[in-house]
Amino acid sequence: MSSIPTPNPEEARRILEERARAAGFDLVGVTDAEPLEEGGERLREWQDAGMAADMGYMHRPVELLSNPKKLQKSARSVVSLGVSYYPGEHPENEGGGRVARYAWGRDYHEVIKKRLFRLREELEEELGVRIKARGFTDAVPLLERSAAQHAGLGFFGRNSCLINNDIGSYFFIADLILDLELETDDPGTGTCGRCTRCMDRCPTGAIKAPGVVDARLCISYLTIENRGEIPRHLRPLVGDWAFGCDVCQEVCPYNKTKATKSHWPEFSAESGYGPYLDIVETLGIRDEEEFKQHFAGTPLTRPGRAGILRNCCVAAGNLKLTVAVPVLVTALREDSSPLVRSHAAWALGEFGNPEAMTALREAANREQDARCREEIDLALQGAVNEEGATDPDGTRGLE
Ligand code: SF4
Ligand code: SF4
Repeated sequence: MSSIPTPNPEEARRILEERARAAGFDLVGVTDAEPLEEGGERLREWQDAGMAADMGYMHRPVELLSNPKKLQKSARSVVSLGVSYYPGEHPENEGGGRVARYAWGRDYHEVIKKRLFRLREELEEELGVRIKARGFTDAVPLLERSAAQHAGLGFFGRNSCLINNDIGSYFFIADLILDLELETDDPGTGTCGRCTRCMDRCPTGAIKAPGVVDARLCISYLTIENRGEIPRHLRPLVGDWAFGCDVCQEVCPYNKTKATKSHWPEFSAESGYGPYLDIVETLGIRDEEEFKQHFAGTPLTRPGRAGILRNCCVAAGNLKLTVAVPVLVTALREDSSPLVRSHAAWALGEFGNPEAMTALREAANREQDARCREEIDLALQGAVNEEGATDPDGTRGLE
């Protein structure tokens, strides 16, 4: 094998296409390794507006995030690959915590990484050269979507997702940065036309302008990356989402007409946790080890135990899931995480039934954490006010 990549760029591109398709990727595109200036500019504006919330990796310097050569000095091409994860539609909710479609199956990082590295090896064999490569999916701070748009995989929709004219937007993007020159593709084109459905239907109004999502309001961020509270005023808007949110993709006409089921069995509902979390079961997970075992190999480990339980509290409160009251009471009494206890208090306040009220009053006498106490007080006040609202004398809640 030579150490200098010399294959003809057109021929190398053809072989890449062939091998990537055989590996199961639905979309294949190539762009050069120059800085992604437009994407970098957009990222800078987004960061400056505070919309990246506390996602550490999104606060890294734009120069690093937008320049493939900062990730690999010898980079000459960026290969963008797309694979549909679309597992179908959610069945009717019978009291579960709704999971975004990309997380129904196995952890995509591992699944895709294996095929990416195999693809690199196959390219080396086929082209007879050693290729220096970095492969990643959603893990290295390159503006993946921007690179993919440059590589022709799609265009940016108003929901900020990359939309492909043939398969919509339910696809993962994976990249290989190579020190190999490949023929490049034209950038992706397309348009939302006059459609504004995603902006109109986003439950929290997170899409501030076409293509600009304020992570601080986005349910996807709030239920996955966010390590703290879900702000009180947003909790009712989160609805039954317990991991991520698909609303702005569900309403998109491109997905309604183009989304076809993933060919990768790893992304099917059967191979992972599926479309809904069992709220009662999840709220009963008390320690980290049990949590890791329970969700092993799925993307659902990402928010951590406290994060997932927090989300289940909010979903239970919004669904008024009466069967969850006993586990919420136990969580309020026993959970080691103040984050879980405070959200359990909020959820119990949403029920306001005698069992919930008794648990909240007991907790008020016992709770040491200041923020939890505040939540308990607010839950008690809210429940009392609600009773008062249907009680003209205002006496029922005052016993
Ligand atoms: S993921 Fe949900 S909350 Fe976030 S922008 Fe889309 S619709 Fe809005
Ligand atoms: S819902 Fe409409 S506006 Fe939003 S991304 Fe899809 S086509 Fe564009």
